[in-house]
Amino acid sequence: MKIGFIGLGNMGLPMAENLARAGHQVTGYDINDCPTEVIRKSDSIPTAVSGADIVITMLPNAAILRQVAAEATPHMTTGAVLLDCSTVDVESARAVAAQAEGAGLLPLDAPVSGGVGGAQAGTLTFMVGGAPAAFEKALELFDIMGQKAVHCGPSGNGQAAKICNNMILGVTMIGTCEAFALADKLGLDRQAMFDVVSTSSGYSWTMNAYCPAPGIGPQSPADNGYKPGFAADLMLKDLRLSQQAAQAVDADTPMGQAATDLYAQFVEAEDGSGRDFSAMLPRFESRRRG
Ligand code: NAD
Repeated sequence: MKIGFIGLGNMGLPMAENLARAGHQVTGYDINDCPTEVIRKSDSIPTAVSGADIVITMLPNAAILRQVAAEATPHMTTGAVLLDCSTVDVESARAVAAQAEGAGLLPLDAPVSGGVGGAQAGTLTFMVGGAPAAFEKALELFDIMGQKAVHCGPSGNGQAAKICNNMILGVTMIGTCEAFALADKLGLDRQAMFDVVSTSSGYSWTMNAYCPAPGIGPQSPADNGYKPGFAADLMLKDLRLSQQAAQAVDADTPMGQAATDLYAQFVEAEDGSGRDFSAMLPRFESRRRG
């Protein structure tokens, strides 16, 4: 397939390179210089997208996505797929999709889970919103860039799935970290805590697969000085999107709100920025009640 790829950052570049290595003809565009030997680069959005069967975007936020989509769609071939893999709010995803449909394109919102490691290894999970025909067309590419793609329904539903998942993740990480900090103060050995919880009803992905305590459980960012991994800043972004969505549809999400407030405090008023989101554990360790 002929693919235009816009946004060659930490996630986008390895995804684009995997597509090129699988034999697709990829033309990339980014406002910054993103060195690569694997894909061809273009110096403008129109040249990157014209004649493409699929245009993929992997951008930092919704405002940039809206701007890039408005610039790209007039130059795209009728019937081509506009596949956005960025994490943005549901409303923006639906607005971009409506605009693309109006231009005779097939839009998909397909945010990912799996991080930079998953992008490099081609093991991302895609949560996809959009028409079944568009999903079918993109499936071959999801198979290259990822290990799983779930069709979640119409446009915007991929973003809905992503923020619901990450709201659980943020809440669970905080719960896991505060429980470890409490266990420390109760004199409970961390290994014993892990051995019990990881095989009891408190188990979770944050405990079992991404344990925030260094030296415990499988390798995780905690074993690497809390270097991300999944940065606390990105967790905050996703939690804010969850609360924006909750407000828009009048959903009561008290734990999601509490997690948002805590990550905002950690990232914006403490030392959380640039650290993995599991660095909540050293944060709790150093604090006292009240
Ligand atoms: P990034 O900042 O590394 O990459 C974004 C790229 O977009 C940058 O290279 C930037 O120069 C480029 N860009 C900005 N404005 C542009 C424009 N107008 N035209 C063309 N290119 C432009 O971010 P990332 O980590 O690759 O994340 C991308 C998206 O994926 C975000 O929405 C993020 O929330 C989501 N995401 C990231 C991770 C992760 O672990 N990094 C995990 C899951 C989802």
